[in-house]
Amino acid sequence: MRATILHGPGDIRLEEVPDPQLSGGHDAIVRVLVACVCGSDLWHYRGLTGLSDARRIGHEFVGIVESVGDEVRAVSPGDVVIAPFYYCDGTCVNCRNGVSTSCLNGGWWGADDRHGVFADCGQGERVRVPLADGTLAVVPGPVTDDELPGLLTLSDVMGTGHHAAVSAGVSDGDTVVVVGDGAVGLCAIIAARRLGATTVIAMSRHEARQELAREFGATQVIAGRGDAGVAAVHELTGVGADRVLECVGTKESMDQALRSARPGGMVGYVGVPNGGPELPVRPMFNRNVGVRGGVAPVRGYIEELLPDVRSRRIRPDLVFDLDLPLADVADAYDAMDERRAIKALLRP
Ligand SMILES: [Zn+2]
Repeated sequence: MRATILHGPGDIRLEEVPDPQLSGGHDAIVRVLVACVCGSDLWHYRGLTGLSDARRIGHEFVGIVESVGDEVRAVSPGDVVIAPFYYCDGTCVNCRNGVSTSCLNGGWWGADDRHGVFADCGQGERVRVPLADGTLAVVPGPVTDDELPGLLTLSDVMGTGHHAAVSAGVSDGDTVVVVGDGAVGLCAIIAARRLGATTVIAMSRHEARQELAREFGATQVIAGRGDAGVAAVHELTGVGADRVLECVGTKESMDQALRSARPGGMVGYVGVPNGGPELPVRPMFNRNVGVRGGVAPVRGYIEELLPDVRSRRIRPDLVFDLDLPLADVADAYDAMDERRAIKALLRP
């Protein structure tokens, strides 16, 4: 089969690799219907993560189950399934506590599982899924092709935006600031509105993204950053926002988020911290500002969000503004790296 391999900074190729095989009773083999490039893939693509060897890449996919191991009960051949950006058993104490990203038996696509067998990546034609019962969410009933992009957002970006809003405690009537206008930030706007926020201020300098932010329910857009951005938030809100959703992961974005929160406010953060953010405890203490969040346990959110995605009450699928065959995966990375695309969909 063909799969995407990152050879080094800026060097991404689709290559022939061995077909995955069932290796244990809890596995499933899934044929990928749609996959996509994540903002976090770009950290590796840009060489910012000290990548040394060539590696498979891609952690968001929706597919159709081809075969399952003897122990698999919840998933059957022919099912259309959503895979979260990690795998998990769904039964250990961390999974039961709602933190399936810390599953005691789980792991990440593109690495060996606890039995030393490679778990394939999403940007390819097929994936061996360990712990299929806990990992895969079955989409009930017939699934049409035009549903696939929306379903795919439940692999990562929509669930991650939702986690930011849940972590910040967004509820009815809140004023929310969203820092970051990538796919996760845009989905966080959807999530904040869905949870009852009445005012959502999106921070974005890009016209197309500002437009989508408004379509997703942002009531105001602030183009300024740093001191100017904070001043604009305070001008609109008086004392700052009730909740702030940090969806970037840099020092500057976390600083922006903390300073945009009102006294007693809460920052929900889901930006992968690659840009050196640290928490300034003294100012947080002085203003009673809290911070909560982390890597989003999206598997646990799929069942809650799925009906709204399928009914099109929410439209996270609109974050895909580039739709390419898997053969053009290098173009997908290029477009996202240059911010010509918000998020690229790939079809094997
Ligand atoms: Zn677990």
